[in-house]
Amino acid sequence: MHEFSLAEAIVRACEEVVQANGGGTVEKVSLRIGELRQVVPDALTFAFDILKTDTLLSQATLEWETVAAVVRCRQCSTQYRPKDVFWECPSCGALGADVVAGEELEIVSITVAGGRDGD
Ligand SMILES: [Zn+2]
Repeated sequence: MHEFSLAEAIVRACEEVVQANGGGTVEKVSLRIGELRQVVPDALTFAFDILKTDTLLSQATLEWETVAAVVRCRQCSTQYRPKDVFWECPSCGALGADVVAGEELEIVSITVAGGRDGD
């Protein structure tokens, strides 16, 4: 159900932006979602399609790019792509790392009918 709260936040944020910019019908919403958010694409689209009903986004499609996860070893500062829930450094074998990328959750752009873009 994680995707429902996410979709709800997206719809609400987009409505606020569009209303603040004079209103209109949203055609497309572009997002960046980090891999570590573990969003299920089909579930997010499903939730979005339900929640957008009767909002400024009722005609909107959702698209996003996934940002690959990158973490940095706390021991030797090697950056690597974590493979599973245990983040083991490929260089020194230490467990534990800080996230460099992969936790993004951003609205990149909102396309409103008529050709105006807002963000
Ligand atoms: Zn290391």
